[in-house]
Amino acid sequence: MAIAWTDTIKQSHHLTYFLNSVTEPWLSAAQDAVREFNALSRRYQLGVTYVETGDAPTDTGGASIGIATASGTATFAYAGSHRTTVNGTGLTGSTLLISTPGGPIEKAFMFLPSRPLINTPRGQRAAGAGVMKVIAFHELIHGCGLHNRDHTPDDVFNGFPTADGGSRPSQDRIEIMVRGQYRFMPPILLSATTVGKIVPLWR
Ligand SMILES: [Zn+2]
Repeated sequence: MAIAWTDTIKQSHHLTYFLNSVTEPWLSAAQDAVREFNALSRRYQLGVTYVETGDAPTDTGGASIGIATASGTATFAYAGSHRTTVNGTGLTGSTLLISTPGGPIEKAFMFLPSRPLINTPRGQRAAGAGVMKVIAFHELIHGCGLHNRDHTPDDVFNGFPTADGGSRPSQDRIEIMVRGQYRFMPPILLSATTVGKIVPLWR
């Protein structure tokens, strides 16, 4: 089940995020994803805007979401220190939504795969910027309060994306199967189903 953030954050309609040592090419890809998320949020009235802050998340304040790249073991601290595992060459990240049982989300930690790889006829290579943006956008939706079991098959929130390698990295696309047909991103596809999952969390 999707769960909402604390009332204070929900009522602010802002999710502050801190980029924890995120460098290129992820820096641009993540910022592009945030820009596009905020634009689509306005268009579909999702009720939430991502806002960058220079304050790292702490137990008592700072950013609501910490964003980092990871490969293998990743650690984060909130009410103690925790660890998770991330496939550093995969096409999906991992966003942990931290809440007490039955309570609202208090903090989130987002990990992007440090070097997503794509298969092409000429072998495996680093995925292009468009694919990275789609990966980050997917995690930004998780950050709104959606878990893996809330995935939507027909858009960017598809849980099992594959990739279509272009002749150049800039032509790489994420592909998903929708009603028997392949659809490609970018451009980002955001369906009414996913919109309908986000909106109630921010009302
Ligand atoms: Zn997901």
